[in-house]
Amino acid sequence: MGDARPAPGALREVLLSEPSMFDFVNQHVDRAVADSDYPSGLIDAIKACNSVYRLRFPFRHPDGTIEVITAFRVEHSHHRLPTKGGIRYAPFVDQEEVKALAALMTYKCAVVDVPFGGAKGAVQIDPKKYTVTQLEHITRRYAYELIKKNFIGPGVDVPAPDYGTGEREMAWIVDTYLTLTPNALDGSACVTGKPVTQGGVRGRASATGRGLFFAVREACANAADMKAVALSTGVEGKRVVVQGLGNVGYHIARFLHAAGAVVIAIAEYEGAIMSPKGLDPHDVFTHRKQTGSILNHPGSTNLPNSGAALELDCDVLVPAAIENVLTEHNAPNVKAKIILEGANGPTTPAAEGILQQRPILIIPDLYANAGGVTVSYFEWLKNLSHVRFGRMEKRMEERDEAGFVKALEKLTGKSLTDEERKSLVHGADEADIVDSGLEETMVVAYNEIRETLRSSPSLKTMRTAAFRVAVDKIARSYMELGVFP
Ligand code: NAD
Repeated sequence: MGDARPAPGALREVLLSEPSMFDFVNQHVDRAVADSDYPSGLIDAIKACNSVYRLRFPFRHPDGTIEVITAFRVEHSHHRLPTKGGIRYAPFVDQEEVKALAALMTYKCAVVDVPFGGAKGAVQIDPKKYTVTQLEHITRRYAYELIKKNFIGPGVDVPAPDYGTGEREMAWIVDTYLTLTPNALDGSACVTGKPVTQGGVRGRASATGRGLFFAVREACANAADMKAVALSTGVEGKRVVVQGLGNVGYHIARFLHAAGAVVIAIAEYEGAIMSPKGLDPHDVFTHRKQTGSILNHPGSTNLPNSGAALELDCDVLVPAAIENVLTEHNAPNVKAKIILEGANGPTTPAAEGILQQRPILIIPDLYANAGGVTVSYFEWLKNLSHVRFGRMEKRMEERDEAGFVKALEKLTGKSLTDEERKSLVHGADEADIVDSGLEETMVVAYNEIRETLRSSPSLKTMRTAAFRVAVDKIARSYMELGVFP
């Protein structure tokens, strides 16, 4: 009998020969431009990551030991500035993943007409293993390193929250930036996703979830698209499964529940629960906060394992946790008719190939979860203008509307009730304006992708069509800008 063990180094070779997440993103681009006339050099320039910064810095534990922390910031494309993309804290994050996520940001921004290039950052830690003070130290040191190398700034590169980070980390970053660059008038625009009290914008925390809701609402409103997957139109009554009850998952679950959809299951890291009658996402969120687990939620059934939720019979499946959760192993068992990609890269190409063998609508990440970056753009605009949206015009709008109501009452000889008056005389405040801008963005982008798919059926899927929309815009920009020097 020969030795079945791989030769030393062979495993490493196998791992290196496996396509990375960045390769997957580039495969999507290649597919999207397969029938185009773009010179290959132009597509190569678009696909390349412009700047990859890997850094290591020391962190001292209370017992005096020193841990070396690895972190990254990748700026994928500088065709629009600043570059933009979240920062994730995760123990297994690697350079190829950050490059893929940065690239995805470039295409995402182009799809929703946000005038930024793509970027992404990561710190290779499990945030659960550190105290809040330790996380603050790590975040501030990471921000300091980015400042030192000009990888952060309102006109350079603007981070935001991602997996494992939130408002709290963004507040630490803006404070570090303002401390080290005290004369930067626009300094608060160096990062988005900040608390509202620190220059954040109302609606940012729920923006990705809300954007996902607008995306699925548009899809469900289209009779032809729904007929293709044997569903009736409308969100109401759709049976939904959500994976991940974090920022993205919680809000999309909440918006779908409020619109009359039935959230039949929610999956988290520690397990999954289901209730055919429907779960109230806020109730489940509170239960998890109080008990530390999603399991044993009153009135729900625990599933044998978290991944089982992905295979439940449902209309809409929303993977909103991490990448690569739909693979060639579970794709044959997925029964959902619509997959709404809340997370970045939740469906591997192999899984997609299997899923596309039956009628299914995959609303791709680069469009579906673009609500976060869209509202980040609004926050950046707010920070540069140094004024809250609606502050200048709200009262003026109300005066105009009150004048219109008065004229209406005079003409008809009837008086409106207080309720009717309130609904007509209502100047838009910041939350209204942000919401309206987000809805407009998601609806316009949906129709642009759909029209591209309709006029070029060879693109086949919404994902390929979305990549084509993005590459067309970026290619135009590259060609107009030319090559320096
Ligand atoms: P988050 O950290 O707030 O939430 C993620 C949740 O997923 C956590 O509750 C975590 O416990 C859970 N989770 C982790 N692994 C899981 C597993 N295997 N099964 C079930 N649950 C699991 O992160 P987030 O900001 O909600 O981001 C989630 C995804 O959405 C990421 O892929 C991120 O890149 C993407 N995204 C986020 C935003 C944003 O605005 N936050 C915008 C666009 C895309």
